[in-house]
Amino acid sequence: MKIRVLGCSGGIGGSLRTTSFLVDDDILLDAGTGVGDLSLEQLARIDHIFVSHSHLDHVASIPFLVDTVCWMRGSPIKIYGIKETLDILRAHLFNWKIWPDFTQIPDGEKPFMAYREIRVGEPIQLGSRRFTAIPANHTVPAVGYAIENDRAALIFSGDTSTNDALWKVVNATDNLKYLIIETAFSNKERAIAVASKHLCPRLLAEELEKMRARPEVFITHLKPGEGALTMKEVGEAAGRWRPRMLENNQEFNL
Ligand SMILES: [Zn+2]
Ligand SMILES: [Zn+2]
Repeated sequence: MKIRVLGCSGGIGGSLRTTSFLVDDDILLDAGTGVGDLSLEQLARIDHIFVSHSHLDHVASIPFLVDTVCWMRGSPIKIYGIKETLDILRAHLFNWKIWPDFTQIPDGEKPFMAYREIRVGEPIQLGSRRFTAIPANHTVPAVGYAIENDRAALIFSGDTSTNDALWKVVNATDNLKYLIIETAFSNKERAIAVASKHLCPRLLAEELEKMRARPEVFITHLKPGEGALTMKEVGEAAGRWRPRMLENNQEFNL
């Protein structure tokens, strides 16, 4: 299984894109602005989108994607999320006001888009690939994801603050090769990080103390303009885990 980073920034500007990962050629994990870099043919191959939470930086491309490729496809694009997240998408995004409700277009029997409710801890198997929502601690209902096959696993924290439940999963995951975890703010913005339920480097270090597994650690969701400072602080606070900055277009093989 191949996982490619389409976006891993906390914002936009220049080459920065918000959170999205392409798994093989048919699955998205979150659908931030990075999805827009795919070609029309690549977009039309997306069958499944796993959503971590309803914030715009993680779902912004779903409306454009569905609208762009619906006429090229024979089956609905499936949107996976916990009930609370799907309810927010129904009420506040695909509500005919911000964007049409594509679960009713062209009709409810054979729609262009379909919601698939998932529960934390219950794996969804797609061929040899397994996706399991894992707990996150954010300002809206949110999850991270464990992505696995029979060989190895990658865990994506999603947007989260202090999160003991995440470490239970991390420490119990066999063959954990990669951990992608957010650090949205620098240390001087710790109060904002706490209020918005994100991490800063010192909080990240406190979190990593709970980790007994030894995956390669990658940092995501850096705030535009603060990436260098935040990564310097991550190195100072959490250097013993050798965290590296997640890069756009970076690829992971499981
Ligand atoms: Zn968020
Ligand atoms: Zn976010």
